[in-house]
Amino acid sequence: MSLKARLIERIGDGGPLTVAQYMDACLHDPQDGYYATRPALGEEGDFITAPLVSQMFGELIGLWAVSVWRSLGAPAPFRLVEAGPGDGTLIGDILRAGRLDPAFLAAADLWLVEASPPLRARQAEVVTKAGAAARWAASLAEVPAGAPLVLIANELLDCLPARQFVRTAEGWAERMVGVGADGELAFGLSPSPLPLAADAPPGAVFELSPAQEAFGAELAARIVADGGAGLLIDYGRDAPSFGDTLQALRRHRKVPVLETPGEADLTMHADFPAVAAAARREGAATALTTQGEFLVRLGLVQRAEALAAARPERFETLERQVGRLVGADQMGRLFKALCLYYPPGLSPPGFEEG
Ligand code: SAH
Repeated sequence: MSLKARLIERIGDGGPLTVAQYMDACLHDPQDGYYATRPALGEEGDFITAPLVSQMFGELIGLWAVSVWRSLGAPAPFRLVEAGPGDGTLIGDILRAGRLDPAFLAAADLWLVEASPPLRARQAEVVTKAGAAARWAASLAEVPAGAPLVLIANELLDCLPARQFVRTAEGWAERMVGVGADGELAFGLSPSPLPLAADAPPGAVFELSPAQEAFGAELAARIVADGGAGLLIDYGRDAPSFGDTLQALRRHRKVPVLETPGEADLTMHADFPAVAAAARREGAATALTTQGEFLVRLGLVQRAEALAAARPERFETLERQVGRLVGADQMGRLFKALCLYYPPGLSPPGFEEG
């Protein structure tokens, strides 16, 4: 029985699902969920991420991690954690850049937080090839506390399940996934609107991600207790705003969200203001900027120039990669970088003002 058929049956038995419940089933259903069964990253797959655009992305983040570790006083051991490592490209590039400081690699106790069994297998190949060793955890809570933490997560927040509320004359009604008269999955509204404080014109959509906030709070609590920094990069908002950002991608094309559950990647914008606020409530310091600003401050342009000087035939490719990562009309502005850190004097690179 397909996931769609099982969801229709589940809704028939238990009533409509919240968008968050629907996302969770589409991404993580053990039998048919997208990440559980057929995650396909890259040019030939369903979606492409910054590490797959250019190895410069992961190398700069590797150097960022080394610099943060040095600022922390070069603790040994420390937990080097990537959450949601996808096909392993990013951790491969981080480990390669980390070789510039062998003490960093020697001190790193590497953990990969990954929900997807097929992706864990691909990450293991990359780590072995890099001559490193890693352990896997299903959640941050499974990574042992008691040592400073340097965590990186690229495009993880956007796949944590979120809820949507629609402004109606009566208040904010939760958007639900039910079954229409034609027997197909259909969006509807919960009959009992909530009196949320935010005001907005009728039809406005408000998104709320308890899972993103919980991740920010849990990460911040760890960092405050043990010292360290977390770098969260994703597409999303840097100020509270309204709008429906739920999106399904298949082979680089947007497809209707309810049409092929489990067969497409399903995401919602990262809610950086909410994640940062949750982290500050735990006592962590936070800094937020755009991916473009972050990478330029870390020296992306100089790195590309150095690579182009060594291999002039690569100039156009490198130029295109830089444009894609930092261009205001490409990933540079829509994607943001959020850093949670402690102690507050740490000043992680890439987030300096001005
Ligand atoms: N960081 C990679 C991949 C991003 S795709 C890159 O930039 O290319 C999202 C990743 O997060 C996948 O590895 C997916 O399996 C993982 N993931 C999704 N939900 C998760 C969860 N709840 N817990 C842990 N990992 C999760």
